[in-house]
Amino acid sequence: IADTTTFPLRFELTPSTDAREEAEREVILADPGFGQHFTDHMISIDWTIQDGWHNASVVPYGPLQLDPSAAVLHYAQEIFEGLKAYRHEDGSIWTFRPEENAKRLQRSAHRLALPELSVDDFIESLKQLIAIDGAWVPSAPETSLYIRPFMIANESFLGVRPSQKVGYYVIASPAGAYFSGGVAPISIWLSTEYSRAGRGGTGAAKCGGNYAASLLPQQEAYEHGCAQVLFLDGETGSHIDELGGMNIFFVRSDNTIMTPRLSGTILEGITRDSILQIARDRGMEVEERDITIDEWREGLESGLITEVFVCGTAAVIAPVAALKSDGFTIGDENAAAGELTMSIRKELTDIQYGRIPDRHGWLTRL
Ligand code: PMP
Repeated sequence: IADTTTFPLRFELTPSTDAREEAEREVILADPGFGQHFTDHMISIDWTIQDGWHNASVVPYGPLQLDPSAAVLHYAQEIFEGLKAYRHEDGSIWTFRPEENAKRLQRSAHRLALPELSVDDFIESLKQLIAIDGAWVPSAPETSLYIRPFMIANESFLGVRPSQKVGYYVIASPAGAYFSGGVAPISIWLSTEYSRAGRGGTGAAKCGGNYAASLLPQQEAYEHGCAQVLFLDGETGSHIDELGGMNIFFVRSDNTIMTPRLSGTILEGITRDSILQIARDRGMEVEERDITIDEWREGLESGLITEVFVCGTAAVIAPVAALKSDGFTIGDENAAAGELTMSIRKELTDIQYGRIPDRHGWLTRL
């Protein structure tokens, strides 16, 4: 897709006239939950096939105007990202590996025939939002401001072809501690009937359609008392892909950590990549390859697999106690969190919250 944009984009600010008072904000920040409250402003950038990216602006948070014939509403030409802003002890605000989110958004854009936004403009859009709404980054332990950049096809046209008009937006939502009562191991549900991705599909893209397709099996997981759904690969159904919104890891007794390889059908998680690096730093062996459910079961039985955990931006790392499905359970639903799981989790959150040196240069000040 041709891009005539001049770089870098310059943002124009229209301040909100009804931003919440500090007292009201503090009430929300004291118990933000997840994804329910939004900051006073948002970022909006337009794109057209004629003019490329333009109209970069910081505007009051509020409803979008979409024509009922907007392409996104019919053909789901939409992509998004998810990352967090962390408040450090000295009050400064930082984010974690945002250039990786920017590049993943570009890869998702390519797959969904959407225009790519430059890494610099992506990062600048985060900085612009934090510049005006920084007070919405909470400071209690393990809290953060969840940032949601997204891109939609908003051309009013019912023909099935890539939209010639697109909008990029960034909204942000204060998030409480994911595990408020201490990190609790979860049980996960194995979907045997549904898959989330197939060869050549959109599994590696962060597009809304993938999540729409995961809702029914996710509901099945909830009905069985499980927090997340695990999908097998869509082609052969023989090995493990990932969860509805997280990647999966296995810790072995032979100083090895293993995770499914980036096969093209799973999301290339930034937490996943960071964990692989931390494991390498610790002198562990890392294996990225196909892993089967039988290998999981047999590994637990033989003692080769000692810990299982899942990871993503929201929870960072959640220990897995058991895998459940129709007719079987692997593991013990009451198992305690693994030691290595918790120690990697601590190292990652210590980096994110500035409690230990950022030796890989993963943090960007917003
Ligand atoms: N897989 C899926 C399907 C996801 O939605 C997410 C969350 N973005 C992840 C994995 C983890 O990715 P990350 O570590 O970049 O948050």
